[in-house]
Amino acid sequence: MNAQAEMINAAPAAQIVVRNPATRESIGAVPVFTQQQIAEAVERARVAQEKWAKKSSAERLEIVRRFQTLLETQKEAVAAVITGEAGKPLAEALATEILVALDACAFLLNNVTAFLRPEPVPHANLAMKLKRGLLLREPYGVIGIISPWNYPFSLPTVQTLTALATGNAVVLKPSEFTPFSSLELERLLRESGLDPDLLQVVTGEGPAGAALMDSGVNKLIFTGSVATGKRVAQGAAARLLPVVLELGGKDPMIVLEDADVDVASSAAVWGAFMNAGQTCLSVERCYVHRSIYDKFLSACVEKTNKLRLGNGTDPNTDVGPMIHNRQLRIVQEHVDDAIARGARLLAGGKTRSDLGDNFFAPTVLADANHSMRIMREETFGPVLPVCSFATAEEAVALANDSEYGLAASIWTSDRRRGDELARRIDAGTVMVNDVVACFGISEAPHGGVKASGIGRTHGRFGLEEMVWPKYVDSDRLPRMKKLWWYGYGPAFKQQMSGFVELVFGRNLTNRIRGAMKSTKSYRNRKPL
Ligand code: NAD
Repeated sequence: MNAQAEMINAAPAAQIVVRNPATRESIGAVPVFTQQQIAEAVERARVAQEKWAKKSSAERLEIVRRFQTLLETQKEAVAAVITGEAGKPLAEALATEILVALDACAFLLNNVTAFLRPEPVPHANLAMKLKRGLLLREPYGVIGIISPWNYPFSLPTVQTLTALATGNAVVLKPSEFTPFSSLELERLLRESGLDPDLLQVVTGEGPAGAALMDSGVNKLIFTGSVATGKRVAQGAAARLLPVVLELGGKDPMIVLEDADVDVASSAAVWGAFMNAGQTCLSVERCYVHRSIYDKFLSACVEKTNKLRLGNGTDPNTDVGPMIHNRQLRIVQEHVDDAIARGARLLAGGKTRSDLGDNFFAPTVLADANHSMRIMREETFGPVLPVCSFATAEEAVALANDSEYGLAASIWTSDRRRGDELARRIDAGTVMVNDVVACFGISEAPHGGVKASGIGRTHGRFGLEEMVWPKYVDSDRLPRMKKLWWYGYGPAFKQQMSGFVELVFGRNLTNRIRGAMKSTKSYRNRKPL
């Protein structure tokens, strides 16, 4: 338990008790920030940001460099905090949270200085040839970040560091279920020498997120469910607040007839069950060619039955608990609905109350179809529903038959065929012969289409979200009046008509005629 939590434990103010999802034991409490406290945090951030934006990118990146070193040194301790509140196995905390954050540091250190360098904008317009164009990238000011519980460290860390490196300040509202990971981020950045006002963590539930949106932040990066994302989008529209929305997914996995069944079944099992299936990029539905369907199913069942459920702190645990009981009930409802509509239960399918309140057995369902909730709604739990297809055409149609479009995967021994099919899938990311892992590539843009969201985090597109483009147009002949200024009349009309012909005339004769017309009238005209 950190110092802030201890202090709050002693205080009578409104607070949230945070529980370990594996044991349900309290691991501390955090305050519920009021609307006024959040507005004050944003104001402090605004003042600090003005100085921060004036620093060179090298000075700002020095903080990122120190943070990277501190995080690497303290990786086990930070992983323990993540596992303590999110439940995932320690190895997953290291691989999918700490490693992702460290790689993001490397990406920022390698790219931000060049990204922020003023960029010449060459142009073709003959009338404007005496102008030089430069694109500047300006920080928004204060970025509000609202985070979910499933990746409580890597998501806010990547977004916060990207915002800071590009000259912004951040006010971060973590999930009420996992605030301590964000408080670790705050602590590490302070120890790295960051002005405390440049990253402030404001804890609380939904209303604290709504208050942050209302607080005068200049941009909001929201990661969470589609339902909350829609509410955020409505609130942002009323304020014309720019937003990035990283929302849910129903990611399809397509296994073609030439795929390696052993490899693809291992990928399906890991992709569906890692983090207890609570990953936005999880394999949420699996389509397998009918020629390998039975073989694939038996391989998945055999591998699923070997998985060990338990507390994430046990190094032998493969699958940890789910975050809370409400999520568990949704999973059970989806499984029951699928079975009632004809799916065959091949493994799991039930809660494991012998282990604790929040455990659900990794589940494999065969013969799933699109009448079932499990193939249409985000399940966000350890379930692998599988269905067969006859042709690649049919598989693509099934994959695209969804309101979501976050990611997808295609499995084949013919990479060219995989790449071609990837173009036809409506998703922000399509992996050929891998699942989930592209989130660990900091250069790769992350985000979705359709109900999966708007905008991107990670990579160059993630950097662009943190700045607004300013075009600086600089004229090389300050003592010359522009030809198109006042002083209109027949000569100017003649000149413009000739100029249009000169540039866009349909053949050489027209263009020469246009040049002559334009030059002749040019001599007869003086702008005011
Ligand atoms: P959620 O929508 O319930 O909550 C997300 C955050 O929003 C929390 O911090 C919550 O307190 C806050 N919030 C709640 N009501 C709010 C309101 N009215 N205004 C502003 N903020 C509000 O989501 P969750 O259950 O924490 O997370 C799981 C969801 O997140 C899943 O749907 C998952 O797919 C999605 N997710 C998406 C990505 C991605 O990158 N696309 C990554 C991780 C998780």
